[in-house]
Amino acid sequence: MGRIRILSDLVANQIAAGEVVERPASVVKELLENSLDAGATRIRIEVEAGGRKLIRIADNGHGMMADDALLAFERHATSKLRTSDDLLSIATLGFRGEALPSIASVSRLTLETRAAEEDAGTIVEINGGNIQRVEPAGLPVGTTITIRDLFYNTPARRKFLRSEQTELSHIAALVTHYALANPDRHFELHSATQALLTAPITANAGDRLFQIFGRDTTTHMIPVAAEIDFARAGLPEPPPWKREPDYEPPAPGFLRISGFVSKPELQKLNRNSIYIFVNGRLIRDRLILHALTEAYRNIIPPTSYPVVLLFLEMPPQEVDVNVHPAKTEVRFRQSAFIHDFVRDTVRNALMHARPAADFLHALNNNSPMASASLLVDVSPLPNGPDQPVFDPQMPAATFGDAQAASGEAFALQPERQLLTAERLAFNGATIPVGYSDNSTLTPDGEAQTLNELANLRPLGQLRDSFILAVNDEGLWIVDQHVAHERVLFEKILRDREVEKVQRQRLLMPLLIDLQPAQMITFASLAGELERNGFEAEPFGPRTIAIKAAPVGLEGRELERMLEEVLAVPDREQQAENAEARRHRIAASIACHAAIKINTPLEPSKIDWLLAELAKTEHPTSCPHGRPIALRYSLKDIQKAFQRI
Ligand code: ADP
Ligand code: MG
Repeated sequence: MGRIRILSDLVANQIAAGEVVERPASVVKELLENSLDAGATRIRIEVEAGGRKLIRIADNGHGMMADDALLAFERHATSKLRTSDDLLSIATLGFRGEALPSIASVSRLTLETRAAEEDAGTIVEINGGNIQRVEPAGLPVGTTITIRDLFYNTPARRKFLRSEQTELSHIAALVTHYALANPDRHFELHSATQALLTAPITANAGDRLFQIFGRDTTTHMIPVAAEIDFARAGLPEPPPWKREPDYEPPAPGFLRISGFVSKPELQKLNRNSIYIFVNGRLIRDRLILHALTEAYRNIIPPTSYPVVLLFLEMPPQEVDVNVHPAKTEVRFRQSAFIHDFVRDTVRNALMHARPAADFLHALNNNSPMASASLLVDVSPLPNGPDQPVFDPQMPAATFGDAQAASGEAFALQPERQLLTAERLAFNGATIPVGYSDNSTLTPDGEAQTLNELANLRPLGQLRDSFILAVNDEGLWIVDQHVAHERVLFEKILRDREVEKVQRQRLLMPLLIDLQPAQMITFASLAGELERNGFEAEPFGPRTIAIKAAPVGLEGRELERMLEEVLAVPDREQQAENAEARRHRIAASIACHAAIKINTPLEPSKIDWLLAELAKTEHPTSCPHGRPIALRYSLKDIQKAFQRI
């Protein structure tokens, strides 16, 4: 007998499930897409234990006829595609006919459905791919699918699941995306304990944006809308045809872009707030991301990201959606044309909203307007080698230097040849000291540094930002913000250990609007925040009220700090251990409570800061972060003056 065997349907389905069903959120995605394809205007999703225990999705779509209800679980059974020609023009979200059999092969599934054309509905029950029960039943028109015990029969896959919180936040993010893309439908997402999202039908995409993101974000967004004839592809400089967004499909043969992009002052630390839809399908696409980066070039720092909600509509034959089993990647037939049109449309919208000269000027000239209007301070995250090092209060030139400093070696400007800096970072934090010694530092050298930093005699401030000081070792330049940040960071960690963090009650509670996924992130951070002096309470379904905060952290900085802490993608949060989390939050509080640059300091304050800095702990060898202090050693100074 030969060795090759045809796989049983069950095994084939489980293999397909490996591609289609990676985690609970992928189940929700497939079922949600099915509901949308079925024309549902009301979709309610319930999950328990992050979807591992239960996922239920109920819709009021067209339902399935009794015969189809069983057929739907056959591999490659679909009502959406008949011939391979249809593949070239797919207008529905689903088409592979793989989702239901795959999901049914790795869970306990119940389908309840009734088509409007039939008097009775059907119940189908399947456990691990085996049909248990098929019965007629009195049911409303529409479909409800319940998935219990996902991966119960594939332990290997179950092991790869993350915490319930993480899985739930993926689901919440996904439902949010689809709600944004479909303002004409009602969405609800419930966990066992709370309503995570309730989004009744709105008149248009702008109202939906407001409904989901709240006023804070919405006021910083501008609409984009443009259409172009694909026939213009390849012609030089296609002129975009601008008009108000509407809800008629674009003319045949046209590419339409609509949606919202953030004004320059609204910046995010990662790409999580960029949503791109192609013909209603949520995708991750490098080409479009690149076009957006280009559109924002020189408008926001290259290390920050905008908030983008972009809908691309085009004839189905212009885009191949059959590239990836989970259908999150697509291939455009005329990719360069689409790339450039996205870039130019977004760029135009940005220029239109606020004259370019205006905000470029603001960014470059340290104007109070620029710093006042920046919503998110994109200071470096702890331990992040390539995190943004952009301080809106710094002039552009300094930004370039700071960037260089975030590389492995501290690149020096030619005119600063005098200084050869070695860089050190402190325990887990981001804050190194710069040295003029050419040698690599040994533990000996570190100990010496502490002594070197002692007995500093301040001379004054340079531009209200850098403290100049001398001692017998030479001349020191200390970045007042980073130095204070270091002092605070260590103090917060010490106080937290003995539960002595000082908190202050806020006169007015600070209300913060959160997206559903952020609600979950917040829940998982709540304990640590509380230990650091925060007091927070839920305030409505999407809002939390901050009632107390650590002393020294207030107003806009308090908001920014929380934004920063909540912006860390869940993936990274999962990877971090308790200590890393402790450090991350302490570093964020320290950064936002620390003395800013461009702040004049009393001599007594300077004395205090230098003394406190000298008392901070030993540097370690962590190679990342910004320098605290630069030293021009006496020897270097003498050499430069050719005295030795
Ligand atoms: P696909 O969506 O790729 O066609 P699925 O396995 O997801 O494949 O679904 C198989 C078929 O089951 C669909 O083509 C559709 O006819 C039917 N179906 C699935 N979900 C629903 C639903 N919520 N309402 C109505 N019909 C559905
Ligand atoms: Mg489907």
